This record gives sequence, structure tokens and C-alpha cells, in this order.
Amino acid sequence: MYNTSLDKQSTIPRSSVFLKIDPLVFSAKFPDRCRLDLCRSRCCRFGVWVDVEERKTILLHQDLFTRYLRPEAKDPKTWFGKTEPDRDCPSGLAVETQEVAGGCAFYHPDHGCALQKGAAEGGLHEWAIKPRFCVMFPLVVSGGELTVDDDMKSLWCMKGKNRTRPLLDAIRKEVEFLFDETQRKRLFAEEEPFPILNARGHR
Ligand code: SF4
Repeated sequence: MYNTSLDKQSTIPRSSVFLKIDPLVFSAKFPDRCRLDLCRSRCCRFGVWVDVEERKTILLHQDLFTRYLRPEAKDPKTWFGKTEPDRDCPSGLAVETQEVAGGCAFYHPDHGCALQKGAAEGGLHEWAIKPRFCVMFPLVVSGGELTVDDDMKSLWCMKGKNRTRPLLDAIRKEVEFLFDETQRKRLFAEEEPFPILNARGHR
């Protein structure tokens, strides 16, 4: 279950939400560091899918971040849209964050994600109430498999010439935050990717 008592850890469970690891995860590259001046947070333009339990967490802690929203996105009724079944979500149900005036309802051009800004300013971990999908990018769980979301090729961080550093090294902090010890060991084990390749052979 989700932990809604906010502390320095995630409100998102460090659960084993994926069973398989795509070998691409071990070979993919990512930029050496984020360059918000170049990427301009274009990945926040359309909103994202979040677990319905994450919506609960966000709504429970709205006092933390509403001051950082754009005026047109202050009304909680604008924040979430339709709900759909999604077996890659721990609860089995995903809900979309809505696009409001050209960006995710939680996006602000002055400081990026209001959920991250609000948590950090409130003394919590910066990702305490941020959707897992957003912290994880470009990793994604699809059909029970952890893989790399290569669909958004127009983003600065997904262009080949900018991807110079091994992905898992570039997002080590995110992986350590999101995944339990078992999954972290699978991702960072020196002998990878061979055990995973073997496991995939038995599917
Ligand atoms: S929740 Fe935050 S990080 Fe995710 S798309 Fe919206 S503004 Fe961007």
C-alpha cells in the first residue's frame, strides 16, 4: 500500500512492479546531466498517467504545492482526467493528469513541476509526491517489463547526439529512490545483463 505519511522517503512504494528487464536498459545512453535550459521541460507538455493511489496522495497534500501552480490550474477539478485500467500500475488503474493551457496541470514555466517544488520547499524529499512515471523517465514499465521509452525522440534528452552516458549511471539517484533492494541489485549487478538474458530465455 502507499504510504501517505510524508517523510524523507517516497510516498510511492518501492515495490517489485516489474518482473523482467529489457536488455536495452543496460545498453541505453542518456545525457550526462539534465539541461532544462535546452529541454524546456517539453516532456511536461501533455501530462502523464499516474496510479490512482498517487492521485490520492497528491490530493491529500495539495496544501504543499497549490501556491506553485499557474493561475489557470489552481482548481483541483482541472488536475485529473479520465481513468483507465493499467496492469502496470500497482493498483491496476491509471488516471491522466490533464493538460491545462498548453502544459500538464502541475507544470509551471518558472519552476517546473509544482509537485516537486512544493515537496522540496515543504522540507520533504523532492520526489515525495511526484508521479512515479515522471521520476522514472526514460525508464518505463510496459507489460510487466522495465524498458526504455524511446517514443519521445523529439525531446532534447532523447536525441542520439546528446546521449553520451550509460543510462543507469545517469539516473542512479532515481533508481535508488524508486526501486526496492532486490530490483536495485538486478539493475546494478556487475554481471548484468547475462542473468536477465537467461531469464528472458525461459519466458
Ligand atoms: S506531474 Fe510534474 S513532472 Fe510530471 S508531467 Fe506534470 S509537471 Fe511534469
